[in-house]
Formats: sequence, C-alpha cells, structure tokens
Amino acid sequence: MRKYLSLLVILTLVLPSNGQDISEETLLKAMHTISSHELLEYVQIQCDDKYQGRLTGTKEYQECAEWLAGEFATWGLTPAGDSGRWFQWYDIPYTLVLPNCGLSLHMPLKNGGTILKHYNYMTEYMPGSTSGNGEVTAEVVYAGYGITAPELNYDDYRGIDVKGKIILIEREAPVSPAAGAEKFNPWYEHSFHQSKLANAVKHGAAGMIYNYGPIANPNNDYYKDFIYVHIGDSVVSDIFEGTGLIHSDVVSSIDSTLKPQSFNTKKVVTVRMSTQHFPDGKGSNVIGLIRGSDPELSDETIIIGAHLDHLGRCYEIIPGANDNASAVAVMMGVAKALTDNKIPLRRSVMFLAFGSEEQAIVGAKAYLNRPVMPLDKSILLNMDGVGIGHSIRALAGTNYPVLWSYVEDANNRYVHRPLSNNYFSNLGRPRLDAAPFLSAGVPSLSFSTYGSANYYHVPLDNLDIIKPEIMEDLCQLLFVSVVRMANSPESLR
Ligand SMILES: [Zn+2]
Repeated sequence: MRKYLSLLVILTLVLPSNGQDISEETLLKAMHTISSHELLEYVQIQCDDKYQGRLTGTKEYQECAEWLAGEFATWGLTPAGDSGRWFQWYDIPYTLVLPNCGLSLHMPLKNGGTILKHYNYMTEYMPGSTSGNGEVTAEVVYAGYGITAPELNYDDYRGIDVKGKIILIEREAPVSPAAGAEKFNPWYEHSFHQSKLANAVKHGAAGMIYNYGPIANPNNDYYKDFIYVHIGDSVVSDIFEGTGLIHSDVVSSIDSTLKPQSFNTKKVVTVRMSTQHFPDGKGSNVIGLIRGSDPELSDETIIIGAHLDHLGRCYEIIPGANDNASAVAVMMGVAKALTDNKIPLRRSVMFLAFGSEEQAIVGAKAYLNRPVMPLDKSILLNMDGVGIGHSIRALAGTNYPVLWSYVEDANNRYVHRPLSNNYFSNLGRPRLDAAPFLSAGVPSLSFSTYGSANYYHVPLDNLDIIKPEIMEDLCQLLFVSVVRMANSPESLR
C-alpha cells in the first residue's frame, strides 16, 4: 500500500512539472509538513550555550555551521561552498568580551571627595564588542558625531582637545538618508562606526562612550589601546547634568546648522573593558543547493538567505533567538519541505547561511566576491529577525513588484497574515545581508516580523520571546513563493 501511495505521489509530482505547474493538492500537502515545533527546535539548538552566541571566527560558530551543514546533507542538498564542500571561507578578526567590564561616573561630593556611580550592565551600558582591553579614568569631552570632514567644512574635533580623554559621541551623521541621496551621500562614509573609531584614535582619545543605546555590536574595528562602551539615555543625561546644556537640543542644533557643538563636559568616568582579540579568525558561509531540473533555467537561482551568526558573548552569552536563529530555522524549514516532498523545481534554489552579518556583513560580501551561481541570474529572499509578533514585512517589496506579487499571492491564498512591504532606498550604511546584494544589482526582498516584545542585541533576545506560529506561517509563505517562482514560465527579474 505504501509503495503504491508513494508511486502515486511521485506521479502527481512529476507529471505536472513539465507544464511548469504543481497541483494545488501536492503543494498544500507539502506546505503542511512545515511545523512550528520543528522550527522552534532549530531555534533552540542554535541558542544552546554550547554555541556561545555564534560569533563568526570562534570555534563555536563553526560547530554550529557544521550542525547546519549536517542537516543540509541529511536532506540531500548539494554542498556549494569552497572545493565542493559546505563552507565558503573568509578571514574575520574577532574579539571576545570577558566578564569584569564596567562603567562608572565620578560624582564630586561637597566635602571635596567623590563617590562612584556604577552603571547597570545591559539596561544602562554594554561593553564595546571590539573594544581594546584595559581601564581608563578620564574627563568626558562631547564630540558630536565624531566626524572630521574637511570636504564638508565640518569637524567635530575643531577647538577641543581630546588627547587622553574619553569622547562621548552620537551614532550616524547630522544628515540622514531620509534627506535623499544628494544630501546624504557626502556623509555616507563618515556615518560608519569604523570611521568614527578611526577618527577618535587619530585625535588621540583614550576611549569612547558611544550613544548607540546599551546594545552589543561587533560591527566595528579593534584598536589595542582604545577602549569603548555603548551607552543609553541615563548615562548621557548624567554627563550633560549641570553643564547648562540639554542633550537633545545640542543634537538638534548640530543637525539644523551643520555646526559642531563640541565641549568638555568636565565629568569624569571610568571605563573598564576586559577583552581578548583574535586577528587571524576564519569565518564561513554555509551553502546548500538544489539544482534546477530545466537546463534552460537552472542557472537562474532563488537564494534563500539568513545570517547564522550572532554576537557571541558580551560578556554574557547573547543567544540571538530572533536575530537570527529564527530566520535560519525558517530557511531550514523551506529546505526540508522542498526535499522531503521532492518538489520539482525548474530553477535552482540555494540556501545561503551567512556568517559575519554582525561583523560588517563580511559574509555576504564574501559571497558577492565569489558567487556560486551567476549574480545576474540570481534573486535573494533574505530574512532577518522573523521570530516575533504576528505581522510580516518585506523590505524592498515595492522595489521589486514581480517578486512581491508571488509573496502577496501566496499570502492571500494560504497564509493570511498581516503583510506589508516598503520601498528601500539602500542609501544608509548597510545593516543587513540584502543591502550589498541590492547594491550588486541582485533583486532582493528582506523579511522581518514584528508585533510583540523584542530585545535587540542584548542577552534577552532568547527563546522566551519567540513566537513559533509566525515562523511557521512565514515558512509556508516562502515555501509556496519559492515553488511558484522556481517553476514560473515568466522571468523573475
Ligand atoms: Zn543583528
């Protein structure tokens, strides 16, 4: 009986594939093999302490990559990394953040002494993920955006002395991408964390407190003798307290006049960072492929992308359940449903798990430098943060109406979730794997979900915040979209 049944299934699968369509029944049956329980388990595995937060370059990241490759192998994907194996390798320096970090403010007493106000880990500060190692006690100099741009006649360091001091600076630039390409582009390079850090070091600062919110972020460079920490509002307001200036007014004034407002706050802080740097790390993307059955179309590739890496320890383990174990889980769900159900695919489908998204999207750039399938015949369906809430958003959906139509149609027919898209200008510094693909001319959508509590780049991004139902629905949505895209007689680009 079983034999007979499977023969029937094979027949119904194979026959329609010549006419580019798969029966509704087959599609639905396969779609319903996707289970939220399984997806949640994939998230749970990635968040296990044994993988130590999956910082690319560490052996724990690579162990997690091997686990994923093992699953790909079980499902019969073809390895498409370097030399016919699963991994595409690249160099990635990395920094471990160890316990014994701290940030404190020296508060003068009326009798001439001082007391130390110690800030709270995570709610008030997070260690700089690529900070140097050591302790510095120094005055804090407010240095605006930390930008020196002679070509724009703008210099936050003009008229201040930061040698041996700790600078307090803002994220981004006084002009934002929302102002449009013409106004923002001259500020683009200056808006990178790496530019700000290099500029601070060049001006002789001993350290930095970065008004980026108390979050971990290894997307930065390492300087042996330069320590830094990420801070939130409570630290900023303590630093401004008694200076006669209001922080938000100062920032608005810089933005509206494009004139720096730097000054010595005379506040003294102690920043203590405990880190260990590894300049010779090796990172990897994990790549599995299902080659399309149609010789005319098999170079055309639908890439399902999600970053496998997260932030490692800072100094607690940051599990990155939503960012981005959720997306890898959904990617795995699509791969398993396609292979288990032997869905015929005329175009190729690639599963591309990026390393180092959190380290300046180095993994995505490595793939673009050494693409496995022709980039001018590829499209990318990327996911970043798809494990929370009840609603789905596709970044750049309005940029690519053809791709979007498949997603919208699948949602209208089968999934019925609140689904939205937007136009993505991609003008700002790249902050997700889809950004360099878009810059390289690869049509890309990037999915995320929203609508419930989220914790970004802190240890609380753990299993507790994950909503398995939205992962299941997105997985089904992508599964149907990918099957339709892979077998469509129409061009995808
Ligand atoms: Zn992230």
